[in-house]
Amino acid sequence: MISRRDFLQTSMAAAALYGGSGFGNWGRLAAQQSLTQRKLLEFDTFGNVSLIHITDIHAQLKPIFFREPEINIGVGDNRGQVPHVTGSDFRKLYGIDDGSASAYALSYNDFTALAQGYGRVGGLDRVATVVNHIRSDRPDALLLDGGDTWHGSYTCHHTAGQDMVNVMNTLRPDAMTFHWEFTLGSNRITEIVEKLPFAALGQNIFDSEWDEPADLFPPYKFFDTGGVKVAVIGQAFPYMPIANPGWMFPEYSFGIRDENMQVMVNEVRAQGAELVVCLSHNGFDVDKQMAGIVKGIDVILSGHTHDALPEPVLVGSTMLIASGSNGKFVTRLDLDVRDGEVKGFSHKLIPIFSDVIAPDP
Ligand SMILES: [Zn+2]
Repeated sequence: MISRRDFLQTSMAAAALYGGSGFGNWGRLAAQQSLTQRKLLEFDTFGNVSLIHITDIHAQLKPIFFREPEINIGVGDNRGQVPHVTGSDFRKLYGIDDGSASAYALSYNDFTALAQGYGRVGGLDRVATVVNHIRSDRPDALLLDGGDTWHGSYTCHHTAGQDMVNVMNTLRPDAMTFHWEFTLGSNRITEIVEKLPFAALGQNIFDSEWDEPADLFPPYKFFDTGGVKVAVIGQAFPYMPIANPGWMFPEYSFGIRDENMQVMVNEVRAQGAELVVCLSHNGFDVDKQMAGIVKGIDVILSGHTHDALPEPVLVGSTMLIASGSNGKFVTRLDLDVRDGEVKGFSHKLIPIFSDVIAPDP
């Protein structure tokens, strides 16, 4: 039933990457083949570091029908730029065929007809299968959760986030940042975060009384993976008290805090970080802006705006990755890091077709 073009891996040497060429071939490079779990998970291991990115799961435990938005408005310079490109324009940009699996996963046209063929997407048990597969290949791959995780379903609401916390813990993330989680209220957040078996990061989460970084949320954490010293810096949603009721977390203040981000980047570099990753919930356009202002971030794993991009977007030498929402995608990014520099990368936006990927038992 499921056939046509497949999702594929984009690989590039650093020279090609920073030269800006080679993009736009995504769909064209895809082979005509049937969609199988093996094909969806297929990846030629590259370099020495693997990052796995998931974000904006919104407590979506089970597979769903999820259609990409028809309208994605870009303001000012961002008008007409990725990710504010949808439908047929998006498919043309990435060379995706009408009616293909890629078209179903990444754009909104013919959604009803294609949904009958390709079925549901997401499901954290399927995400677990993908994460386990990547770890079987690269055991010390870092799993990074961009937030908006413990919010958005009845059971999540009913258990004050506990059901999602329990499920996510079984995936063993290495770090996470936050947005809607804060609407659980400061007390509940403290209760959960104190027991988390992984890092809860946010360089822009400040104690509002003292205007100092909040103790509960360290700005960054170091990981040794593939012989590379990796710093992951967290960036929580900046506009928290504007978009969400501030009375639920009066102890905290947020903001983008580009200056503090630069201080953090310099600090981790001074401590020997060879790769600097920002796990962000800024939203794509704010991340683009931040990448232009803050120097020295290698990769921004972007969240909040739910964009799913089949290729990284470059701002200077900073690579921006967008991994969709609701458990519909997992991004795998392999990097070749040597002498404190990214020499090349291999990237794949893996769609979680629920009928193709087996649930993890
Ligand atoms: Zn958000």
